[in-house]
Amino acid sequence: MGTRVLILGGGFGGYYAARQLERHAPADTQITLINNTNYLTYAPLLPGAAAGTLDPRHVVVPLREHFKRTALRVGWVTDGDPKEQVIHVDMMSGRQATFGYDQLIVALGSVARTFPVPGLVEHGVGFKTIEEATKLRNRIIHNLELAEGLDDPFERRAFLSYAFVGGGYAGLEGMAELADFAHAALKHYPRCQQAGLKFTLIDIAPRIMPEIQEPLADFTMNILGKRGIDFRLETSVKEVRDDAVVLSTDEVLPCRTLVWTAGVKASPVGSQLGLECDRGRIVVDSTLRAKGFDNVWALGDVAAVPDPAKPGLPCPPTAQHAIRQGTLLGKNVIEVLKGGQPKPFTFKTLGSFADLGHHQAVANLMGVKVKGFLAWVIARSYHLAWMPGLDRKARLVADWVVQFLFPRDLAEMNRIGHTPALDQPALPAAPPKAQLQASPAPPPVPGNARGLEDRPAADGASGSDTGSGSGEAQPSGSDTESR
Ligand SMILES: Cc1cc2nc3c(=O)[nH]c(=O)nc-3n(C[C@H](O)[C@H](O)[C@H](O)COP(=O)(O)OP(=O)(O)OC[C@H]3O[C@@H](n4cnc5c(N)ncnc54)[C@H](O)[C@@H]3O)c2cc1C
Repeated sequence: MGTRVLILGGGFGGYYAARQLERHAPADTQITLINNTNYLTYAPLLPGAAAGTLDPRHVVVPLREHFKRTALRVGWVTDGDPKEQVIHVDMMSGRQATFGYDQLIVALGSVARTFPVPGLVEHGVGFKTIEEATKLRNRIIHNLELAEGLDDPFERRAFLSYAFVGGGYAGLEGMAELADFAHAALKHYPRCQQAGLKFTLIDIAPRIMPEIQEPLADFTMNILGKRGIDFRLETSVKEVRDDAVVLSTDEVLPCRTLVWTAGVKASPVGSQLGLECDRGRIVVDSTLRAKGFDNVWALGDVAAVPDPAKPGLPCPPTAQHAIRQGTLLGKNVIEVLKGGQPKPFTFKTLGSFADLGHHQAVANLMGVKVKGFLAWVIARSYHLAWMPGLDRKARLVADWVVQFLFPRDLAEMNRIGHTPALDQPALPAAPPKAQLQASPAPPPVPGNARGLEDRPAADGASGSDTGSGSGEAQPSGSDTESR
């Protein structure tokens, strides 16, 4: 039997490690990848999916189509024992399975970093998965439909108000795209036009996007401000209610949708694998090898990979790092299998950018500030270049062209794929007044349609939080979203 290489996680890091192994590992190497979906989520394009400019299916990459010799197993990694060289997985079928390995690669990514803010878990929506992005798109349409039928202007206002917490890239890009979408839709809702839409970005830090130069952050605030987006800096969220958000200033914002983009923390499963962790991230050396084990490796958001650009600090959790780490890790495992020495991770970030919609973006490219249309072209070209597969690239271009030529699609598709039993009405009866807070929830899909809290069976509660844990100490998303 050849060497068994087991990869946990099929996101950026796991995918690129698998592709490298497929190309260059000895022919008798058995490569198995476990992921809780059968696709890779291209997270940087989630704002486009949320805003309806990209078809949700076009921002994910079906793994089976791309793998030539990697066996994909869909299931939820729960824990493992590196001394026994085993990993436990809840399979899709509900069966529990144990996987053995000779070489293990952990690439389980991150989860939303939450704080004990009353009402946050119940009412907040995350922005890390395709399910959440789609939910937000549907929520906007649903709320417009609902508000259009309401007579009480105060009640209507809450349905037309959105609060985003976290002024990092994910929050700003998401909010900019969703605000554009909502404003484009508004012209079809005359009663809602009277109340108007309200988008508020809340961050405890004194400025947004600390990863880029201050003039670019100012430019971003300026153009988003002109689009009616309100910024509440040096402010945190004290409570999230059904129909309002209470700020640290005691201001009460009528609002029925709070989007939580206040940073990420390593997947808590990483710390359930019996590996040493530092603030939740698996400790690895510069070759990505986990501390204390010759045959265990970790990368991406779940690992504390020493940053060559900032000695003493771990790499920021970004796709550009995970991709390079995945490729290097594939090569390192192959080198070790051949009896050679693994190489250190030397990639230094090329820069970062944020797409602000309306053909506008800001970019910091190796210290050079770029803004406006040119930055937008660079951002789109970058994602096009990194989207795996020619077919995926073609679909992206087609979506962007269609969006440029035609108005946005306003059909609410919340129930798609969730059909009632044959003896039930095709559409549910109107909800009672007390339930008017959100779009009707489809039946849960294990591990996918998660709320802000993680699936307990897979993620447990032991992941140590990288934040302070205080109810009001919400971070700016600074270290967590620099790209
Ligand atoms: C909205 C948004 C926008 C972003 N924009 C950018 C950007 O523009 N540029 C940039 O560089 N970075 C960006 N990022 C960050 C980037 O997406 C991450 O840093 C990157 O995905 C990390 O790669 P990874 O392989 O470590 O984890 P992931 O890509 O998250 O992959 C982890 C995989 O593991 C799976 N998984 C998790 N737990 C389990 C389990 N228990 N069992 C089985 N499978 C499991 C997940 O489903 C996932 O497929 C963005 C992130 C978000 C959320």
